Amino acid sequence: MAVYDPASLKAEEFINHEEILETLEYAERNKDNKPLILEILEKARPVKNDRGCTCRGLSHREASLLLAASDPEIRQKIYSIAEEIKQAFYGNRIVMFAPLYLSNYCVNGCLYCPYHLKNKHILRKKLSQEEIRQEVIALQNMGHKRLAIEAGEDPVNNPIEYILDSIKTIYSVHHKNGDIRRVNVNIAATTVENYRKLKDAGIGTYILFQETYHKESYLKLHPTGPKHDYDYHTEAMDRAMEGGIDDVGLGVLFGLELYKYEFVGLIMHAEHLEAVHGVGPHTISVPRVKKADDIDPDDFDNGISDETFAHITACIRLAVPYTGMIISTRENRAVRERLLRLGISQISGGSRTSVGGYTEEERPHDTEQFDVSDQRSLDEVVSWLMDNDHIPSFCTACYREGRTGDRFMALCKNGQILNCCHPNALMTLAEYLEDYASIDTKKKGYEMIERELKNIPNEKTRAIAKSHIEDIRTSNRRDFRF
Ligand code: SAM
Repeated sequence: MAVYDPASLKAEEFINHEEILETLEYAERNKDNKPLILEILEKARPVKNDRGCTCRGLSHREASLLLAASDPEIRQKIYSIAEEIKQAFYGNRIVMFAPLYLSNYCVNGCLYCPYHLKNKHILRKKLSQEEIRQEVIALQNMGHKRLAIEAGEDPVNNPIEYILDSIKTIYSVHHKNGDIRRVNVNIAATTVENYRKLKDAGIGTYILFQETYHKESYLKLHPTGPKHDYDYHTEAMDRAMEGGIDDVGLGVLFGLELYKYEFVGLIMHAEHLEAVHGVGPHTISVPRVKKADDIDPDDFDNGISDETFAHITACIRLAVPYTGMIISTRENRAVRERLLRLGISQISGGSRTSVGGYTEEERPHDTEQFDVSDQRSLDEVVSWLMDNDHIPSFCTACYREGRTGDRFMALCKNGQILNCCHPNALMTLAEYLEDYASIDTKKKGYEMIERELKNIPNEKTRAIAKSHIEDIRTSNRRDFRF
């Protein structure tokens, strides 16, 4: 039997089944132990110091206990600490991105995914480099600066060279004042050598969802294809980091397995990255299984309610306070609105999940990966965020300034975010307002900028940001950053 060791490089040791079961038992046993829960909540709370704020985070055991708590008063406390942490480290900024689907050719047999090999009625499509250029122009015309590229796993149709060529194409397109400044990559687990190539191509975050941490279920849900190899998939982030990628993004596809099990696995994975590489995950995504071609979410027994979803999100926020959290357009407006307050720091907007979808007039469904629940345009999403007092940020500065991995975490921890991320958010919002926004959004946006400039603590930084925003307003100068 494998022994739990967060610093091991073996999947079965750092995501240890027995340790997860014991954690779940511990949480069940103590879920009404109010003094213990209150102690854990106290530990999770952000603490002010002379440089800003720090947070200790929680172990997988502590966080699981909070997830097991059903007392409404305790839950309320969890939510309010999640909001406090969000406010302390991410403020009211929300980073915007869009997915770009390159190819839906796939050799895997994932039971929840419409790209699975046996799906004969989905139209298979792979974008040429010229088609990618057109998609990128369409995305730039919306105002996007940050993309997550997505592709099925197919060594013949989507080899690493195709992905690398696509990244090069994306970075090369500069339409009017547009450019894509950060490409995150969501492709199947691969080799250290390929991760090194991705790193050299200038990617931002490497994202790979675990789907489920439960090995037995994983093997059933991925019956065929290279993705069937649980260990290879689970150890992918270690290879990515060995290949030089500092920022990695974790995720679980909620609905496949029992959410409490997944939650422990996810936090253990974060602890493992911290133990081995000295830095936790850059982001955590929280997708839920959605309807798609040939896929009915009701076929999976472990769907979670919106309430549980909120509870999970808040508990992740408490456990890993410095990790960004992402929610996609799989979720509708109401769910997104709630989760934004509980810790989400990045959202997609105006997304099309079909291959070549951005250049089509109407939202195409024949190659979609999942049904999009939030179908609003980027302008509508930006306007809605501001109505809810969130600053839509198109900032990509950190990784371009070399603030990746632990250097980004240091920025979070030393309280400099308000002198760095805040002005960057306002300057990139000004770019959006000048180049892409509707009249109403533009008006609302500049009012927000006016208000929010006052929240930059350093006087000199505030003056520089103000002057750059004036430049953006009155000239074609773009891409200022701290
Ligand atoms: N092919 C790559 C891999 O194997 O990791 C990643 C790309 S895949 C396009 C992105 C993610 O979409 C998957 O990791 C999965 O979690 C999610 N996904 C697949 N089917 C889904 C569905 N029906 N509803 C919601 N999300 C789904």
